[in-house]
Amino acid sequence: MIPIPETSGQRLAILGFGRSGLAVARALESGGADVLCWDDDPEVREMAAGSGFGILPTVGDDDWKGVAGLAGLIVSPGVPHLYPEPHPLIRKAWVHGVAVDNDVGLFFRALVRPEWDEFDVLPRVVCVTGSNGKSTTTALIGHLLASAGKPVQVGGNIGRAVLDLDPPGDGEIVVLELSSFQIELARVLAPDIALFLNFSPDHIERHGGAGGYFAAKRRLFAEGSPEKTVIGVDEPEGESLAGGFGNQSVEQGPLIRVSTRRLSENGGWSVIAERGFLSERRSGRQLASADLRELDGLKGLHNHQNACSAWAACRLLGLSPRNIRSGLASFRGLPHRCQTILEHGGVLFVNDSKATNADSASRALAAYRNIRWIAGGRAKSGGIASLGRVLDRVRKTYLVGESAETFSEQLGDRSKVISGTVAAAVAAAAAEAESGDVILLSPAAASYDQFASFEDRGDTFVRAVATVTGTAIRSESETVPPSVSGQPGPALS
Ligand code: ADP
Repeated sequence: MIPIPETSGQRLAILGFGRSGLAVARALESGGADVLCWDDDPEVREMAAGSGFGILPTVGDDDWKGVAGLAGLIVSPGVPHLYPEPHPLIRKAWVHGVAVDNDVGLFFRALVRPEWDEFDVLPRVVCVTGSNGKSTTTALIGHLLASAGKPVQVGGNIGRAVLDLDPPGDGEIVVLELSSFQIELARVLAPDIALFLNFSPDHIERHGGAGGYFAAKRRLFAEGSPEKTVIGVDEPEGESLAGGFGNQSVEQGPLIRVSTRRLSENGGWSVIAERGFLSERRSGRQLASADLRELDGLKGLHNHQNACSAWAACRLLGLSPRNIRSGLASFRGLPHRCQTILEHGGVLFVNDSKATNADSASRALAAYRNIRWIAGGRAKSGGIASLGRVLDRVRKTYLVGESAETFSEQLGDRSKVISGTVAAAVAAAAAEAESGDVILLSPAAASYDQFASFEDRGDTFVRAVATVTGTAIRSESETVPPSVSGQPGPALS
């Protein structure tokens, strides 16, 4: 845990008492602060009170007493702070001039300690943001560093909450996944290296539109003033960010551009993925390369983008191409994201339960051929209507969940069957599969019709694979790489 002595003797309140809220409470209390909390859910408040935390006193349901005397209101990422409506407690804090902050802001405030003065190599913080691939890239950077023997901790929106991490030691590198919500609220941001992976409009209701969403992510660079940057330039947002930083990079340190499309040579430093190969270039010359085609943990062009970004970050941290290549080869991928479970009788079983919409599923479908596709659940708007030619890679679809009929209609004449459940779909697909086929769970729908979460759905798939193949497979939670163990973060981006 990272204690926060800066708030010693002060009274602060925490809004939203989930995983990160609890970590904040512990960190503030151990630094000597007086902590109160609030959650709109009475059951959570009861649980917090039962664990000995004070509750912010109220007169009625939304009039909190004592706000004026607070030194800060620490807001959890799940709480809307401006759009679509500010939470009334945040509004009250504004009225009374109480500083509104979050765990990431506290982390950067408390990070630098007097003992750093004695260190040979100062700790560094790498922050990863973007619309897609944050968890994978964050875990991959952690894995590459750990495989190269560097001391590293991974946290933020993945694994441990930022304040649950240990105070970094001599030369240690902290890799943080940061969502736009986390970046937007943090009063202090001070990454050494910042990564912007890609951009697609998401969560726009929480940011007042796509511009607000980009502005939130941009803060990591504009306010954070990272010494070094890695920027995916396949969308105009990344191009504009890199353009601005390109001008400053002479004084501010290096920028590496990442692309999975043809990148116009600008004489700078870049890492690109093309036809399954990664190429690092500087001043128009290739410095290093890697073959990404056989990496089981990083299948598909989207994962090649993640690999390029992680490569770039590790190069900025001083790793050699040889070290990075060997780490890439041993990365198993994150559970539920194009994760190879097993090859049995020439048939590959892949768990991509995290693909909760058609766009995510299209990336998995594009990564394989001869697919027996298990799809369906609680459909998102438009269902799978947007999937076009990529469906030519599918031999047959096994439909599950409440969207089965709709998806079946959207598939038209293509080969398909309504299986109903994931277990029945796995059994049917395995019975029909031939050597060279891929049985892929990539539902293109949310899991809540039949499961508690996408993890639960993925675990059910793995158990079904174990049953039909008669193979003992460890459960998903056991297969999480140690660098990202702990509770998965909230699905924010
Ligand atoms: P995040 O943490 O940003 O949600 P994850 O690494 O958990 O990202 O991946 C979530 C899903 O997003 C994956 O199942 C995959 O379908 C998709 N994805 C991963 N990386 C990328 C990328 N670079 N570009 C587009 N989609 C991606």
